Amino acid sequence: MTDSLLNAKVLIVDDEILSRQIVAKTLNSIGIENISSVTNGLEALEVIKSQTHNIIICDLNMPEMDGIEFLRHLAITDYSGDIILISSQDKRMIESVGNLASAHSLNVLGTLRKPILAKNLKEMLSIKNSPNRKATTNAVDVITPVELKNGIENQELVNFYQPKINVATKKIIGVESLVRWKKNDGTVISPDKFIPVAEKFDLIDDLTKYIMKLAIKDCLGWNISGQDFSLSVNVSTLNLKALDFPSYVNSLIQEFNFETKNLVLEVTETQLMEDTLTPLEILTRLRLKGIKLSIDDFGTGYSSMEQLKSIPFTEMKIDRAFVNGASKNEAAHAILEASVSLAKSLEMSIVAEGVETKEDWNLIEKMSIDIVQGYYIAKPMPAHEFKEWMDCWNAK
Ligand code: C2E
Ligand code: CA
Ligand code: CA
Repeated sequence: MTDSLLNAKVLIVDDEILSRQIVAKTLNSIGIENISSVTNGLEALEVIKSQTHNIIICDLNMPEMDGIEFLRHLAITDYSGDIILISSQDKRMIESVGNLASAHSLNVLGTLRKPILAKNLKEMLSIKNSPNRKATTNAVDVITPVELKNGIENQELVNFYQPKINVATKKIIGVESLVRWKKNDGTVISPDKFIPVAEKFDLIDDLTKYIMKLAIKDCLGWNISGQDFSLSVNVSTLNLKALDFPSYVNSLIQEFNFETKNLVLEVTETQLMEDTLTPLEILTRLRLKGIKLSIDDFGTGYSSMEQLKSIPFTEMKIDRAFVNGASKNEAAHAILEASVSLAKSLEMSIVAEGVETKEDWNLIEKMSIDIVQGYYIAKPMPAHEFKEWMDCWNAK
């Protein structure tokens, strides 16, 4: 065990004495001595006001304030340590609560089912010090619409590109463009931070038009003439409110002489649309022109069955929540299987995103999924690197 783990301050939140004792003993056995415990969420919130902890080990079923409510309150304190969830609930229930906590931007190390085995707890604590672990910050930089507007106008937005691979042939069949904001001071801001701002403050049309043009230019720069190589661009549902959107896309295709069938628009519904008729009309018109349509993040949010029924999608992109680690997660596995069969019967091609490991790849291959995208193949990269990467991959 490393020093930082030995010096960890742990808070156990559990109403069962026996369970608290077992956890404390396990921690002792790996050299962690600084442990306090309380019996419910309310007490825990009191304690963390006056003492700092690095790890909270929390039960779900507790009187006064249960674990789920506790996590919600914890999310609005400035607690930045780790959390391990334990419960005698079934595995799926504990996993759901784990997802909920992560959605609150809490750092969940993992979830354990009672009775706690020392081996499992140790394994989980060892993740804490793994060098591969992503540093998470709770601090969200506030981006103002004026800043973003200037950023777009000053052409500070760039696209990164991530390859899509045919599972059977291992050939590169296309690329997805993923926008980044490269500020003049060198900081790079990820789309999750500024796309919502663009959507909220009416900047999303300008943003999408700009990055779509850039993507087409970059793609033509790779000189992949004569090949079936698709370019996927993300489109916000708010773009589908503007009736002139199809003509803009069309004008780009004409201007750059881009092959219509090689353009894919990935649509994620991030917010429920009140007017569903206009997006439907726009998407149908785009499809009529030969542009391909992909339903992004399938299985999450509003990307739903209802849309599959009414919109002529050509591709289903299964969200990485059901792909990464699916070989070990029964629910994810089942949803993946059902999505594949749905896509096949609707004659849509299927892309599994978030393939990170060999196990993910093997499962996808076994399920006869056509296309894969994920860190296992490559991370998104700048346009010039993508060309080099492609040459390298093709040479293999
Ligand atoms: P998305 O469209 O679902 O894109 C996939 C995201 O997953 C990308 O994050 C990509 O870098 C990441 N990813 C790819 N493979 C893996 C993997 O194996 N493991 C993990 N953990 N992640 C992987 P990114 O680039 O940060 O984009 C986040 C989201 O921002 C996108 O999700 C998309 O919804 C939105 N976005 C990105 N570019 C644009 C854009 O140009 N326009 C719009 N409207 N939205 C965009
Ligand atoms: Ca996408
Ligand atoms: Ca996704």
